Amino acid sequence: MATEAMSAKPIRLAIVGVGKIARDQHLPAIANDPRFELVAAVSRNAVVDGVDNYHDIAELLAAGHELDAVSLCTPPVGRSAIAMTALDAGLDVMMEKPPAATLSEVARIEAHAVAAGRSLFATWHSREAAGVAPARAWLADRKVQRVAIAWREDIRRWHPGQDWILEAGGFGVFDPGINALSIATEILPGDWVVNNADLHVPEGRMSPLAADIDLTCGDIPVTAAFDFLHEGPQQWDIVVETDGGTLKLSMGGAVLDIDGKVTEATDAEYPGLYAKFADLVGSRSSDVDVTPLRLVADAFLVGRRTIVPAFEW
Ligand code: NAP
Repeated sequence: MATEAMSAKPIRLAIVGVGKIARDQHLPAIANDPRFELVAAVSRNAVVDGVDNYHDIAELLAAGHELDAVSLCTPPVGRSAIAMTALDAGLDVMMEKPPAATLSEVARIEAHAVAAGRSLFATWHSREAAGVAPARAWLADRKVQRVAIAWREDIRRWHPGQDWILEAGGFGVFDPGINALSIATEILPGDWVVNNADLHVPEGRMSPLAADIDLTCGDIPVTAAFDFLHEGPQQWDIVVETDGGTLKLSMGGAVLDIDGKVTEATDAEYPGLYAKFADLVGSRSSDVDVTPLRLVADAFLVGRRTIVPAFEW
């Protein structure tokens, strides 16, 4: 089904899972990138205008489209089966974060990509935020003393009705929190370890609504406070203290403050992801970094669970 992507021909793409992020970010990014042509959408309930729509990946493949790739925007549970089906059918695959529900699933997806000779891109959209690359460059020359992450947002405002987030495998507050870890592990490459964690799980739900994590990157102490019930000003900050001043990334990485000098750029996370995917497809390579997912898995492994009052939307 797939053909080799040639520079002159756009990558013929289907999107799978038409929910909030597909509509807010993927569809506009695809429409604005001439290296892609959206030919189909897969959704149990939604329809994307102007393309053929299918209920599931099997229906899409049976339709016999000239397809090169799929972009997966479903929740993490269930994404692995879709990814493997697509790879086995000869398609290149781009996956929303987190790449799957478990580390073993990611390993199995990767093995399928290798066996099929296709490109696999496990995306971390927050790493494309404007401040991240300059932060990494500035930190490379300095001795880091400590890091404090604060990721506090209101689940009711950003994820209304998304019950899957609080189910098993839904990641709970780690759904946004893993974005912070994807940035932290990008700007500070090193040996990251979770030492301990406190997880606050609402009665009757499976995943935490708040977490306090104690980590180290090499010998650097790192604290992370994740809160999904935060009203008032929303906070997505990483503060890094060094021997040469303090760096603060805020607004999820869009704003960079180095000792009071602030730089801010417009959001280009998803255009950046699709540009990378086009390059990976063109060079027949893959990009799969499980470090943020491994830290989340470890926090679940060592975390002390406290049951907190039930959560209702
Ligand atoms: P969403 O609004 O709930 O959309 C997910 C879509 O996937 C649904 O509309 C649904 O479409 C489909 N789906 C397939 N199996 C499903 C299942 N078992 N349960 C629920 N939906 C299922 O979620 P989202 O916010 O777009 O998030 C999707 C992925 O993008 C997640 O991994 C999330 O972490 C990531 N992400 C989200 C955001 C954000 O701000 N929302 C930002 C960045 C990344 P059909 O019912 O039509 O099949």
